[in-house]
Amino acid sequence: MNSHLSRRALLGGAATAFTFAAMPRVFAQAASPAPTGPFAQAPLGYAFDALEPNIDAKTMETHYLRHHGAFITNLNNFAKDNGVLASAPVEKLLAEWQQLPEAARMGIKNNLGGHANHSMFWQIMAPGGAKTPEGDLKAAIDRDLGGLDKLKADFNAAGGRVFGSGWVFVTVEKDGKLALTTRPNQDNPIMDGKMVLFGNDVWEHAYYLKYQNRRAEYLANWWNVANWSKIGERFAQAKAGTLKI
Ligand code: MN
Repeated sequence: MNSHLSRRALLGGAATAFTFAAMPRVFAQAASPAPTGPFAQAPLGYAFDALEPNIDAKTMETHYLRHHGAFITNLNNFAKDNGVLASAPVEKLLAEWQQLPEAARMGIKNNLGGHANHSMFWQIMAPGGAKTPEGDLKAAIDRDLGGLDKLKADFNAAGGRVFGSGWVFVTVEKDGKLALTTRPNQDNPIMDGKMVLFGNDVWEHAYYLKYQNRRAEYLANWWNVANWSKIGERFAQAKAGTLKI
């Protein structure tokens, strides 16, 4: 390619990007595919570019549509041969995963965990959400996790120590206390009888396009998009026993 063509290609790319940026956000936020079984994705609730620059639009689009979407497709395929998947809530299936049909148990467990983890993840991020915890949630973080600054430091350190792929979570334990924990792969603390208050995805697909190998930088920047309003709602629901995935 000579320099003239290269320049034209660049200009063409810029024009395309401008057209996309000018589109109303409702168009930029592509709908998830129509479900073909009992499992479906909740709407993302914001545009793919809404969390820029902390999480880039291409990562959000790929993560929501392709990665989470694959769990939905897989679960709907499993549901064709495993009727329990059509009749039980996700939370119950996760809590009782060891009773799933043996032939498909690990596959269903991994995809259920992936669905639950990502459903939580999209909810607890937002552009312009509350920047700090308030009320009962702030009190619980101070009491159980040493305050917000210590929580962030410990959460980032724990996320950095996850070897390979996994998640870092803050859970609500059976006694109502908050705890910091990690899980490998797509495991989810509901599988161990806990409730998930919030968590961050440290699989490379969550950050690699923008941050490459700099997971620590992703973890640090991620707090800029944490939605403390929603996390506070989830805490109230956890205490009331009404928290969903
Ligand atoms: Mn993910």
